[in-house]
Amino acid sequence: MRCLVKAKAEEGLWLEERPVPQIGPDDVLIKVRKTGICGTDVHIWNWDAWAQKTVPVGLVTGHEFAGEIVALGRDVTDLKVGQRCSGEGHLIGTHSRQSRSGRFHLDPETRGIGVNEPGAFAEFLRLPAFNVVPLPEGIDDEVGAILDPLGNAVHTALSFDLVGEDVLITGAGPIGIMAGAVARHVGARHVVITDVNPDRLALAARVADVVPVNVAREDLREVMGRLRLVQGFDVGMEMSGSPAALDQMVEAMVMGGRIAMLGIPPGRTAVDWSRIVFKALTIKGVYGREIFETWYKMIAMLENGLEIRGVITHRFPAARFEDGFAAMRSGLSGKVVLDWT
Ligand code: ZN
Repeated sequence: MRCLVKAKAEEGLWLEERPVPQIGPDDVLIKVRKTGICGTDVHIWNWDAWAQKTVPVGLVTGHEFAGEIVALGRDVTDLKVGQRCSGEGHLIGTHSRQSRSGRFHLDPETRGIGVNEPGAFAEFLRLPAFNVVPLPEGIDDEVGAILDPLGNAVHTALSFDLVGEDVLITGAGPIGIMAGAVARHVGARHVVITDVNPDRLALAARVADVVPVNVAREDLREVMGRLRLVQGFDVGMEMSGSPAALDQMVEAMVMGGRIAMLGIPPGRTAVDWSRIVFKALTIKGVYGREIFETWYKMIAMLENGLEIRGVITHRFPAARFEDGFAAMRSGLSGKVVLDWT
């Protein structure tokens, strides 16, 4: 099969031929149709310090996918050949207290496909049946291929009650934009999204009913005045990893506000903790998706009118993966989807 491999310890990925994966008794074999390129994949492409210490050379990359089940392991009884599916790319263990008490997304033994284990940038993917999420008719392969990042957005957005609340999202990447769409879908009042990249802010305004603010040029306080946010934002979602964005968010929150953080700051950064204490803020770190609660919620919302397809800006056949990564690395793209059929 064709697959995208981290074949060398240097910048890039390589399209190679590999044998179709063998499946175990509890696995399924999935014929991959569409995959999304993630920021994580760009780190792996760039071979930065994180990728070098995490990703084994020779690994098949990719973790955002939709496809069709083509073979079942001996003990798999609740899935069918021919079923369209996506799936949770975090492979959990069964030993930790978190796992054994059903909080699968908090399992410290978690391993990721396309990061630690063979991934989805391939014509075929082996996945534990446990991780498979069947796709209903109304969700096509393209949207199915970006349920992983939509799940990040949903997990972050649903961390706190948003009904009637004013929300600030810092970072207008695809996940920030999708989080904005989710926040509006579930009944937030004002959703303001900030960035310094005009293309991403324009995409945000096209995809979701949000107020885009370029903080390099506009004063967030002025925008808040215009929206009559007297005290500030009730809920914040930090999606940029920028220490300056978090700082601005803390400043713009109400007393007792709540912040969910998905963006990953670079290493150790300075934080004004006294302001967080005096504002009585709650800060929650978000990792991955709640397995599988987030999947149920997001599929229900998609079936109930949540519209996020506009976040996909580029589509390429898998053979043109280099164009896909160039679009991602330009910083001008939304989601980039590769077609493996
Ligand atoms: Zn991803």
